[in-house]
Amino acid sequence: MKIVMAKHMGFCGGVRRAVDMAEQAARSGGPVHTLGPLIHNPQVVERLQQTGVNVAAQPTELDAGTFVVSAYGVEHAVLDEVRARGMAVVDATCPVVLRAHAMAEKLASEGYQIICLGDHGHPEMITLKEMLGDRVTIVHTREEAAKVKVAQRLGVVTQTTQSMENLRLIVGDLALRVKELKVLNTLCPAITVRQDETNAIVEQVDALLVIGGLGSSNTTRLAEIGRARGLPTYHVETAGEIAPEWFHGVETLGVVSGASTPEWIIQDVMHRLDAIGNAGSPHAH
Ligand code: SF4
Repeated sequence: MKIVMAKHMGFCGGVRRAVDMAEQAARSGGPVHTLGPLIHNPQVVERLQQTGVNVAAQPTELDAGTFVVSAYGVEHAVLDEVRARGMAVVDATCPVVLRAHAMAEKLASEGYQIICLGDHGHPEMITLKEMLGDRVTIVHTREEAAKVKVAQRLGVVTQTTQSMENLRLIVGDLALRVKELKVLNTLCPAITVRQDETNAIVEQVDALLVIGGLGSSNTTRLAEIGRARGLPTYHVETAGEIAPEWFHGVETLGVVSGASTPEWIIQDVMHRLDAIGNAGSPHAH
């Protein structure tokens, strides 16, 4: 089986930075907490836990030591709370997320009603909602966007990890419904490059393997590209989930990863694919 692997694999800059900051905080001593996972990769979060980075489920569990803000950011209300309790704060919010939020805020201050393409309940969207309140409506699909009652001056932004294709479709629809439409492309370049690569890879392969957290928005978007192309598409977090029978009859397999997938999981997966390839080959030795 031939493998076509994306060039951009492994951590993006923002995830690398957040993991480094959490590890550094753990090394400095004292209890370290994140609120929810630091990044959307359970295996990395588990390793961090082993080094002393604990995951709190509720803000009330943040009571002492250091609070590390996740790469997606956190509501100001939570920050105020933990500071009031005397905790140290290490802010690992990705600068690309902060920039996207600042762009949305500017658009709102110019009087535009904002539609943001994003995942409901994603921390990045919760923070945006906290900042803009009723001035922003989060939509996840083209159908949802079609139902929004729009003003005559409309601004569109996106969560950093959404798909360029969805943005294109939603903007196309909205352009016909309003007098003035201002679109700010707040997609993260580290994400769009992975989507572009995946779009190119799905043209050359019989199946697609996507490596990354099942709860990772950007990884899920990559799997959607494979499915939209009608390819058998497998989204796995670890090498152990891979079943050899997936690849029967597959001559060329595409392999891509999300921006929060660590190098060691990618290596594990490649070794597993190697083993499956050798076992299935008549020349195996
Ligand atoms: S994907 Fe982009 S926005 Fe998200 S953490 Fe990485 S660099 Fe930052």
